Amino acid sequence: MLSEFSEAERSRLLSELLAGRFPDEHGRFGPFGGRYAPETLITALERITEGMHAALADSGFKATLDGELAEWVGRPTPLTAARGLSRRWGAEVWLKREDLAHTGAHKINNALGQALLAQRLGARRVIAETGAGQHGVATAAACARVGIPCVVYMGAVDVKRQSPNVDRMYQLGARVEAVESGDRTLRAAIDEAFRAWVADPEESYYLLGSAVGPHPYPYLVRQLQSVIGREAREQCVARTGGLPDAAFACVGGGSNAIGLFHPFLADTSVRLVGVEAGGRGAGLGDNAATLATGRPGVLHGSYSMLLQDPDGQVQETHSVSAGLDYPGVGPEHALLKAIGRVEYTSCTDDEALDALWECCRAEGILPAIESSHALAGARAFAREHTGTRLLIGLSGRGDKDMPTLSQFIDRIRS
Ligand SMILES: *Cc1c(COP(=O)(O)O)cnc(C)c1O
Repeated sequence: MLSEFSEAERSRLLSELLAGRFPDEHGRFGPFGGRYAPETLITALERITEGMHAALADSGFKATLDGELAEWVGRPTPLTAARGLSRRWGAEVWLKREDLAHTGAHKINNALGQALLAQRLGARRVIAETGAGQHGVATAAACARVGIPCVVYMGAVDVKRQSPNVDRMYQLGARVEAVESGDRTLRAAIDEAFRAWVADPEESYYLLGSAVGPHPYPYLVRQLQSVIGREAREQCVARTGGLPDAAFACVGGGSNAIGLFHPFLADTSVRLVGVEAGGRGAGLGDNAATLATGRPGVLHGSYSMLLQDPDGQVQETHSVSAGLDYPGVGPEHALLKAIGRVEYTSCTDDEALDALWECCRAEGILPAIESSHALAGARAFAREHTGTRLLIGLSGRGDKDMPTLSQFIDRIRS
């Protein structure tokens, strides 16, 4: 259906986008987004939407958020000149260091902002779901800081394979509910968390971890993560006197990518490149490259691109990186792809791991495997465009990935 957009339609949608018309009052980004939720939740989503608009327009709320971002999260995060990678790639490489944010990734920007919103809305507890546990840890930390109890739903399989993050959540005072239903991983955890919220929509706040889900979450998460791109744009101009030629970010649900890209959308000279998880290859079930091979459909409350089998069943995914292993993607990315403002590519597990090791050795930085997808995408771009200035969103640090990386240790012991 995307190819069905005419050239005229694309340019109309692009100018509406640049004029700030998306999401519209129905939470739509062109044809994507919206709110597909049970009746009981519509009221709760409405309350959050109103509360969000009031909060984002309130200078007191913004001052509190900015203060916490500075003294608790550690913002602004640095923009690092990657001299080693620049030399190797024949490009001018800059890294936006979300790995240096508190708890080790960009997820804290969103978790903190929403925890403050939950507090403002008078919520008695926060509900969240987590797959690999990174969003759970960020939410547990933010809720502790803000002073709201929090319960994190996590598939029983994930509880086992991500036990260090489960321990971190407990240390930070969260309750973790192991979900034994369904596939006992992220999808089941989301279903269970939604169920808990439906049962108690008045007293609880659902803290969603990426730019996905029903309106207003894709918008709210984008607003909270745009601090990445605002800082990076300003830092890049200050350090280099100009804008980058291209910016790269990995895309799971799409929150760090939309956060980096959004402040550059109007800078049409800047190519924006989202890098999805190409996994083991192009076969159905072998990757999580939703925008590359997905079709439109509804998942978790929103109409967007979706990996599905020929019968429309949501497809199992594979990626070496837990944070990218998701069959959906945020609706704004679906629009950005449809109108051609952002290009989406993918890299395989092996290419991401290669880029990770190269970054370790060239820069003394161990990136998350997720972030290494952005590095691999930028490296491929540099091969074709020598001498360009590249901005890479380093969404998180790789310490959490040590159990995975240890399995591949033989590859680098040479
Ligand atoms: C969770 C995670 C991602 C993927 O989530 P997005 O919403 O697509 O940003 C990427 N990088 C890191 C380090 C993560 O923890």
